[in-house]
Amino acid sequence: MTATDYDLFVIGGGSGGVRAARIAAGYGAKVAIAEEDRYGGTCVIRGCVPKKLLVYASRYGDEFEDARGFGWTSGLATFDWRTLIANKDREIARLEQIYESNLKAKGVVTLKTRAELIGPGAVKLSDGQRITARTILIATGGRPSRYGDIPGANHIITSNEVFELEDLPKRIVVCGGGYIAVEFASIFAGLGVETTLVHRRDKVLRGFDEDLRDGLMEALAGRGIRLLMNEALTGVARDGAAYHVALRGGGSLETDLVLSAIGREPATKGLGLDSAGVRTGAKGEIIVDSFSQTTVPGIFAVGDVTDRANLTPVAIREGHAFADTVFGKRPVQVDHSLIPTAVFTTPELATVGLSEEAARALGHELDLYKARFRPMRNTISGRNERTLMKLVVDRGTDRVLGCHVLGPDAAEIVQMAAVALQLGARKADFDATVALHPSAGEELVTLREKWAPPA
Ligand code: FAD
Repeated sequence: MTATDYDLFVIGGGSGGVRAARIAAGYGAKVAIAEEDRYGGTCVIRGCVPKKLLVYASRYGDEFEDARGFGWTSGLATFDWRTLIANKDREIARLEQIYESNLKAKGVVTLKTRAELIGPGAVKLSDGQRITARTILIATGGRPSRYGDIPGANHIITSNEVFELEDLPKRIVVCGGGYIAVEFASIFAGLGVETTLVHRRDKVLRGFDEDLRDGLMEALAGRGIRLLMNEALTGVARDGAAYHVALRGGGSLETDLVLSAIGREPATKGLGLDSAGVRTGAKGEIIVDSFSQTTVPGIFAVGDVTDRANLTPVAIREGHAFADTVFGKRPVQVDHSLIPTAVFTTPELATVGLSEEAARALGHELDLYKARFRPMRNTISGRNERTLMKLVVDRGTDRVLGCHVLGPDAAEIVQMAAVALQLGARKADFDATVALHPSAGEELVTLREKWAPPA
């Protein structure tokens, strides 16, 4: 065998790539990683982290409002977008630096460049340099899909640009019905922006439990977000500082910003996959086996570029499992069957396991337990929003198949419920668990009445 420059070359310094590089180096491998933009990748630079900071910002309005019912009077609260963005940028820069220095501390060679495959075991950098490696890991993530081919599509921004806006718009049109679209609609509405959500289907959040979807749409509408379902943009025209948006149904909207969040696609364009013989699927995703091995021996892929479950903790697990398997001599497969996930709208929702619809489709006979209640805090604050909790239980085995929450702290509650589901908890185990009172989460262990559809 001829000598190679590295044991492992990682393309992409995001969640999956960074984890894989660090763990492989910890096993003694000689590792290099190439990142064409900023270390940390989507999650840290233009995804989960900055988004959650904006979510926090968007919720202070509620706090000020609700405080009155608890006896507080405060002066006129004002909001400054530029302060938020500057502070967010500082925090992101801090995290980016930590990501890169953690790699260096493990002895990983960090390159700030684009890399492309030029064959099995070989990559080319932007400056033309060729590098060989025994193993190559592709962890290039995904990119926002562009809004279709309509006149004025160039005026539409994506989630990549939204974090860099200089000013907060007064009005926004958000396109899409996935979690990123509803989260941004909720963020902007919370910051006082007149918000319209345009989605080509009849409901948001396809794939989530129907009760959560309906409950969220009701809550978003209750918070003043205009929901235009079964609708699409047919054109965007500049009108001075504003935009004129034409709709498929014949209507139109005036707005200051159009944000598209209609989905994401794997970042495989121009990556040289053909030159190495790496096979991709219909969306351009890299096809891998359960050990993240592509169709070419020695080339692996993890994270969003494989389009399995496009979430940070999953990319991290896949990267870690790859390094354990290939460099730690400990074969690890990632279990994609029980992945908790949250949507950070206000109110937020979170879910783990099967929706009622998915469980039925798999042939389960179900018992359903649902609670819809006004959280204690809302009694005095006067806020008229209800929390929804739902357990989907297999009738034959009593196993809890799904846990779904819409309401404050849903993500925190469901993360813990996920432990129970991971352990195979039955409804009887939830019942045997002592409630923590007063909390919202206690509802999950005090649900006794089976839900029956209204006669
Ligand atoms: P990425 O993190 O995308 O990293 C890929 C990296 O590769 C990028 O830095 C890119 O610049 C680099 N790259 C690409 N091509 C090349 C090349 N040829 N050469 C060199 N470098 C290259 N997930 C959650 O779990 N929770 C959330 O709340 C959440 N919120 C999100 C909000 C938004 C707005 C978005 C867009 C995503 C969100 N996600 C969330 C998803 C999460 O960010 C991704 O699942 C995760 O980042 C995937 O990690 P990855 O390693 O596969 O790819």
